[in-house]
Amino acid sequence: MKTIDELEQEIANVEKQLGEVDAELTKWKSRQRELHMKRDLIIKCIDKIKSDALSQKDWSGISYDWYEEVKKKLKDVFKIKSFRPRQLSVINCTLSGEDALVVMPTGAGKSLCFQLPALVKPGLTVVISPLVSLMEDQVRSLTEKNIPAMLISSGSKDANIALNALKDTNAPIKLLYVTPERLAKSKRFMANLQKCYEQGRLQRIAIDEVHCCSQWGHDFRPDYKHLGILRKTFPNVPILGLTATATSHVLTDVQKILNISGCLLIKSTFNRPNLFYQILEKPSSKDECLNILESLLKHRYKNESGIIYTYSIKDSQDITEGLRKRGLKVGCYHAEMEADMKSKMHTKWHEGYYQAIVATLAFGMGIDKPNVRFVIHHTISKTMENYYQESGRAGRDGLRAECVMLYRMQDIFKISSMVMPSIENKDQLYGMIKYCISGNRCRRQLLAEYFDENWGDTDCDEMCDICCNSQTPAQELDLELHCKTLASIFSNANKQDVKLTAQKLLDAWFLKGSVPLRHKGLEPRISRSLAEDVIAYLLTEGYLEEDYHYTAYTTIVYIKAGPNMYLINDPDFKLKMCIRRYCTFDTRKRAPADDESEPSPKKSKIFVVD
Ligand code: ADP
Ligand code: MG
Ligand code: ZN
Repeated sequence: MKTIDELEQEIANVEKQLGEVDAELTKWKSRQRELHMKRDLIIKCIDKIKSDALSQKDWSGISYDWYEEVKKKLKDVFKIKSFRPRQLSVINCTLSGEDALVVMPTGAGKSLCFQLPALVKPGLTVVISPLVSLMEDQVRSLTEKNIPAMLISSGSKDANIALNALKDTNAPIKLLYVTPERLAKSKRFMANLQKCYEQGRLQRIAIDEVHCCSQWGHDFRPDYKHLGILRKTFPNVPILGLTATATSHVLTDVQKILNISGCLLIKSTFNRPNLFYQILEKPSSKDECLNILESLLKHRYKNESGIIYTYSIKDSQDITEGLRKRGLKVGCYHAEMEADMKSKMHTKWHEGYYQAIVATLAFGMGIDKPNVRFVIHHTISKTMENYYQESGRAGRDGLRAECVMLYRMQDIFKISSMVMPSIENKDQLYGMIKYCISGNRCRRQLLAEYFDENWGDTDCDEMCDICCNSQTPAQELDLELHCKTLASIFSNANKQDVKLTAQKLLDAWFLKGSVPLRHKGLEPRISRSLAEDVIAYLLTEGYLEEDYHYTAYTTIVYIKAGPNMYLINDPDFKLKMCIRRYCTFDTRKRAPADDESEPSPKKSKIFVVD
């Protein structure tokens, strides 16, 4: 019989071995992750080589057989004088029978890229589109131009006629719009489409808003996943995917799902020179937030139209109510509203009765209002991609418009508790945070990097808060000591067996709250809001890590030491961060947008720097 001491010794021994196994497992897991990443990178490389080879060809040329016909249709049918950038390339490419993915910002004119080719060759083009309202708009506008077009949706009364047109060799139809659900679920539709193909009448398949295939995109639709069968079922029919989503991650994913990896990629620039980007400090109280919104709407954006994006349905309702109490005309919009209420809100905003629509992300695709002068984010977006799309609804008319985001550290945890725990989601959110806490890098530059584009250093032209304030040199903050202080707080917390929220961590750092958690040093000589930026920065750099705790009602986000924290033990450890300048908006009315053609002298100081 072993003694208790001996048994305890044995436990310690087993635990030591368990620790070693854990360490090994972590090592192997990280090796596995590396290999996965390596494989994906190689696949990406192969696709890029294929797609680069295709792009060597001069697609924009006018020597193609169909050029005269294309030009004539553009003038006579569409009443358009000339092509916009890349439109002719796309048309030539798809008429040559190649698969292609077209990436152009919203409003650039993607529809023409499949509508016009449809008229040049015999047969019909099937267009897959995620929203019935988008399809209705297009069919209406095509019908006005005497182009035979129809749509099939669950509600459409002509569905039968359209279905028959698919297999009727004499049907005059040129464009047939369907939702992805049709392809995924309707046997009758697929059977008729097959007939159409066998008769040699299926000219082209266009997939609009093609990013909906990918979970990494911002409007993932499960039914888009089934579209991969198209390439296999109709091997000779060119596929043309179109989207305004430009991240390489999404584009690779889309090609994979559609089975068109390595296809030609036609991409135009995403820079929106007329948009001004700005981050504002978000106050902690709801009332103070409302004050900011009120003063922006009453002064800076007086008589102008815009959107206020909120994080939750509750926020959209509260803010609408708060602003209405302050005498502003605003409408509320979210996913749980009845369809007719939604369309009522939309119309009242469109017609200018509401100055702003206070909306959740449900308010998005299909908004077609050219004179949106401001898009305010009351809470940060989940990803840079989302931010680009949402803020991009401003200034479609090409005149100056402003994209303002209210940022505070606490909102990180609001979003992360909702979107985590996948690594991709985390990276995407952290990209957004880096954008918000940037102290010296142009916001437009950060957007460009995100889209793998180079817009050049001068491209911003003082159209972001950072470039506007570039006269004051950015200051750096040494983080070595702060990191060590934070590490000592974690060790205190470990001893106490407590978990730290960001607030508790800040308290202990500033020698407040629970005494045993506090560190032994002096109170840090930085402001609490700078300390919040430090925490956000250390999260994005892996020195800190979020730690989720799930309860039945909510997710609590704690902070713990991250995988890079061990670096602080290195005697040469150095870490600096650029301090963000706190800008507040001048809420006075700006000069009207149409004065922009006059180059304003250095666009004057429109911010007051604290
Ligand atoms: P997207 O799908 O890229 O968001 P649309 O296809 O809806 O954009 O086109 C936006 C607007 O631009 C439409 O009103 C369309 O008629 C117009 N448009 C498209 N191409 C041209 C062009 N070459 N010249 C002038 N207007 C164009
Ligand atoms: Mg479109
Ligand atoms: Zn800039």
